[in-house]
Amino acid sequence: MTEIQLYNTLARAKQAFEPIDPANVRMYVCGPTVYNYAHIGNARPVVVFDMLFRLLRHVYGAEHVTYARNITDIDDKIMKAAADEGVSIKAISARYAKAYQDDMAALGALDPTIQPKATEHLSEMIKMMQSLIQKGHAYVAEGHVMFNVPSMETYGRLSGHSRDELIAGARVDVAPYKKDPADFVLWKPSTEDQPGWMSPWGRGRPGWHLECSCMIEKHLGETIDIHGGGQDLIFPHHENEIAQSECSHGAQFVRYWMHNGYLTVDGEKMSKSLGNFHTVHDLIKDHPGEALRMSLLTAHYRQPVDFSLDGVAEQKRRLDRWYRLTDGVEATAEVPQTVIEALADDLNTPRAISALDALATKETAAELKAGAQFMGFLNQDANAWFQGGATDELEAAEIEAMITARKNARANKDFAESDRIRDALLAKGIVLEDGPNGTTWRRKD
Ligand SMILES: [Zn+2]
Repeated sequence: MTEIQLYNTLARAKQAFEPIDPANVRMYVCGPTVYNYAHIGNARPVVVFDMLFRLLRHVYGAEHVTYARNITDIDDKIMKAAADEGVSIKAISARYAKAYQDDMAALGALDPTIQPKATEHLSEMIKMMQSLIQKGHAYVAEGHVMFNVPSMETYGRLSGHSRDELIAGARVDVAPYKKDPADFVLWKPSTEDQPGWMSPWGRGRPGWHLECSCMIEKHLGETIDIHGGGQDLIFPHHENEIAQSECSHGAQFVRYWMHNGYLTVDGEKMSKSLGNFHTVHDLIKDHPGEALRMSLLTAHYRQPVDFSLDGVAEQKRRLDRWYRLTDGVEATAEVPQTVIEALADDLNTPRAISALDALATKETAAELKAGAQFMGFLNQDANAWFQGGATDELEAAEIEAMITARKNARANKDFAESDRIRDALLAKGIVLEDGPNGTTWRRKD
């Protein structure tokens, strides 16, 4: 079995990955707060951890990996967006959750195994708060439930800061009901016109950190293998997730913490005022999703990546070359070992892309195709790619035939093939939805 090496933020070292249970490798990545379109920086962790998801499925078997990515559908930012538009928070969160799923799929990201929503886990959150209060790690004050940071001796282990530094660094506003300035909110009261749920401490709503801890506990268990996210989440979000889960369970929460680096645009921090702010939703109107995906993977995930439209055009030319070479070529069954080895070395995507470039010859086009498809590329036929992809319309009969082929592939546990068919349809603007009564399809709007 291929040994995977991963850089663990907690250990501050590259380590051999050993799952708790190789028959059920469990990974969680913090998902979006759905109040607007995701920008290209938000897409980086999605594409990076999709690459890891694909690698884990390759090594342990597709049915032995569970990947959960949550949707935060209650948050003050959602409440503000809803108030600005005069619609319900449900309308806002449903609209942007759907846009998020479509946009990330257009970047070639496989659907996570589970996409839990925060608002569907209120009872789990209440239970965790009760347990934390009972164990002396949380307290009730003026309708809030607060986590008491000094009650946890090891708080700050992930980010490596002392409690004093944390307080100064985070510029925590010292609310009068806090016992300690570092204490953070698990639950806060809602006014009558704000969304809220009944709890033993009155009507209110959860803090963001609590949501992730509870969704992880419910869907993946008390101790999981991998937790990922952007490095901006290390503090306070991930530090607080650890505090809640470990104090509530008395067990290690996460064995491998992974964080991706920042994204800049044209060498600068992306901001609306600089005019370099790109949503994925807009980018995919003019650029192929595969070229955007490639742009995000050209830097190692722990390094900063600089995004530019020139860079996207360059990656498009690389893909043009690969599409030309592999037109009419059948991919080999095996993914090239050079690609797997590069990815198994702490997800070294620049090296994996170089390995594919080395296979970009007439003689090795079949290997190139296999490796590229494994990484989420070359999922259209060459014609569709050169015609601009997304617009050539498939006939209904053709779509139904592909759905049947996918169903057969799944029945044969050929998940690589079933994913490829799904991706190929998506590249043509066809979205598949698996339900209890089989698979239906729709054209992406
Ligand atoms: Zn989270």
